[in-house]
Amino acid sequence: MHVSDHHYGVGVFEGVRSYRGERGTSVFRLEDHTKRLFRSAHILKMQIPERYDPTTLNDVQAELLRRNDFGDAYIRPFVFYGGVLGLRPSTLDLTVHVAVFALPWAGHAYGEDDVRPGSVRLRTATLVRNHPNSVFIKAKANGNYVNGILARQDAQASGADDALLLDQNGFVTETSGANLFIVRDGVIQTPPVTSVLEGITRDTIIRLATSSGYAVVERNITRDDVYVADEAFLTGTAAEVTWIRELDGRRIGRDEEGSITRRLRTMYSTRIRGEDRDTDGWLTRI
Ligand code: PMP
Repeated sequence: MHVSDHHYGVGVFEGVRSYRGERGTSVFRLEDHTKRLFRSAHILKMQIPERYDPTTLNDVQAELLRRNDFGDAYIRPFVFYGGVLGLRPSTLDLTVHVAVFALPWAGHAYGEDDVRPGSVRLRTATLVRNHPNSVFIKAKANGNYVNGILARQDAQASGADDALLLDQNGFVTETSGANLFIVRDGVIQTPPVTSVLEGITRDTIIRLATSSGYAVVERNITRDDVYVADEAFLTGTAAEVTWIRELDGRRIGRDEEGSITRRLRTMYSTRIRGEDRDTDGWLTRI
């Protein structure tokens, strides 16, 4: 990477996790992450060189874990432009590069520094979430993250753990790096994927919940829907399933992890560690 490489935010990436379970190490939904990476590149018109086809990228990630003898790890494939400085990403003087790194996973996205580990306190952001006609929400693109990172900084400055961003119509979207669910009267609800990333954990939870007989509804959610929810939780590759204790200083539910949240979190952690049957083919064994 050269210091003059394109640094205006046009690039795409993934965040992938591996887990060491009783039956060895596996990567969770690797193929789905790679598919999203290619969709992101397509949206941004970044031409990934043919030698980095999806199978190769999957193999490289598995190999990286094997060679480093990583169990619980975080893998970051990313696609970026190299070349001369300038706002001309579609011109031919910019070449597309692909790189992957992995780090051993220590702790949790909302981890050790929290007053009460395992739960989060959110604050509604004053910044409006990226609009789907400003940037493309279905792309996991570098530049899309400025919005959430600034909102999270503000939230943390006011004592919360993360920001909850609203869309231009005032509906709840997501946090800086995780999707949101609420539960009310046994019905699990989450915003539609118009202004939120199509989270792979979000999809996993919807599938696990549906197959366990829960009703799951995608609908516009307001901030007071969250205030009066029985339970609320976040989902993400890093956040996994994390219950939301508070939004804007209002306690959600009974000041403890809700029973449905706990059940889904347990199902999720069983599945990612390969402790039950991989009925959906979500695990890539290392
Ligand atoms: N929203 C945003 C903005 C994110 O960065 C992430 C993390 N990739 C998510 C949601 C959750 O997505 P996933 O479950 O695929 O990690």
